[in-house]
Amino acid sequence: IITVKNISKTFNDLQVLKNVYLEVKKGEVISIIGPSGSGKSTLLRCLNGLEKVDEGIVETGCNKIGMVFQNFNLFPHKTVLENVIEAPIIVNKIKKEEAVNLGEELLDKVGLIDKKNLYPSQISGGQKQRVAIARALAMKPDIMLFDEPTSALDPELVGEVLSVMKDLAKDNMTMIVVTHEMGFAREVSNRIVFMDKGEIIEDTIPEKLFLNPKNNRVKVFLEKVI
Ligand code: ATP
Ligand code: MG
Repeated sequence: IITVKNISKTFNDLQVLKNVYLEVKKGEVISIIGPSGSGKSTLLRCLNGLEKVDEGIVETGCNKIGMVFQNFNLFPHKTVLENVIEAPIIVNKIKKEEAVNLGEELLDKVGLIDKKNLYPSQISGGQKQRVAIARALAMKPDIMLFDEPTSALDPELVGEVLSVMKDLAKDNMTMIVVTHEMGFAREVSNRIVFMDKGEIIEDTIPEKLFLNPKNNRVKVFLEKVI
């Protein structure tokens, strides 16, 4: 569904991505882990075209890509429902009534139908992030990218967001998730990609990565985070 062929990206003098190769198949859930500054966010941004690559190609076909950020990025002056239906109406030009039906269906799916008329300032961080997921889904993406979706949340709110993401994975949504949640990475993903200093140094199934990492840098990282 997406192939990243040997991409490189440099900011000023710093090479942030070095010859990164990644194939994503339909229905796969891939977790990207690795130290801070290793290029995980930059890779996601190159995948969805927010950042231009210097070398290599990102083949996304005509896939629609949804993205969820660490800090929700909801419109503060719009209600929960309005946040979800904005893009389908403006970008996809669907009728308001149809958008409202779709929006309500998605809010129900993420467990927030009773909050539809509240503003972002009136709901919790976990709820905001679930609205952000519903909003991304409203565009009917073929693939969802998540950049540390639970990192800004209080610990007790992490579970409700991961649970929505698990449901998506069960529905066979193709997902790439940058995360520090090793439990989620291990339990939900089909593959884990480990990045360090702009390179993918391991790309394997969870069992192998956690039980028998090939690379010493992966071992050292896992010892620190688990
Ligand atoms: P974290 O886990 O902290 O989110 P990351 O793996 O997502 O880290 P990136 O955000 O991709 O890392 O950043 C990789 C490197 O590229 C960092 O050194 C960062 O400072 C640099 N960088 C990222 N975006 C830019 C930019 N627009 N201009 C200059 N440097 C940038
Ligand atoms: Mg990042």
